Amino acid sequence: MTTLSPDEVLGIVCHVSASTWGNRDVIDEWHRENGWAGIGYHGVITNGVIKNRYTYDISQDGLIQPGRDENVMGAHCKAKGMNTCSIGVCCIGSPGWPPEGAELAPKEFIQGGKKFLTKRQLLSLVNWLAENCKQYGLDPLGTFERPGDGKSVYVISQHSDHDPVNKPFCASLALPPLRQMAADRLKEI
Ligand SMILES: [Zn+2]
Repeated sequence: MTTLSPDEVLGIVCHVSASTWGNRDVIDEWHRENGWAGIGYHGVITNGVIKNRYTYDISQDGLIQPGRDENVMGAHCKAKGMNTCSIGVCCIGSPGWPPEGAELAPKEFIQGGKKFLTKRQLLSLVNWLAENCKQYGLDPLGTFERPGDGKSVYVISQHSDHDPVNKPFCASLALPPLRQMAADRLKEI
């Protein structure tokens, strides 16, 4: 496994699982089945549906679960060299398929009005982003130069920003208000 030292982390890439259900262990299994070294994300945020055909459980909605060790390079965004300079977080969900019974995030946080993210997931994601920006000394509203092509990109980005052809719906978030919420939260912690 390739290490990822704290001073190499310049950004955070958000993802969505493209599944209506799951959690850290489920993704770990999926990624191992792909022949990878286990879960490729550094964090997972659950949506209240852990297994296929399980009903929504509010106690499982918005849980933050650690994924791959943050000192190990992730396998979440190969495009433009982003694995080498970022950590990755994945919200469970499939754009257009909201978990039945869950309160959803306000639509201004979602790209294209596709319902999927729960309100509890949104708040957990904001906390996760703020906590990690604090840990790595990152500005939630800042930018840096992407290693693959030198283009200026946001500290908080999503998979589709780096691989729009292959991952156009990952993570289907409207990032400007999310970055602002993370910046506001960072001032409180
Ligand atoms: Zn992705």
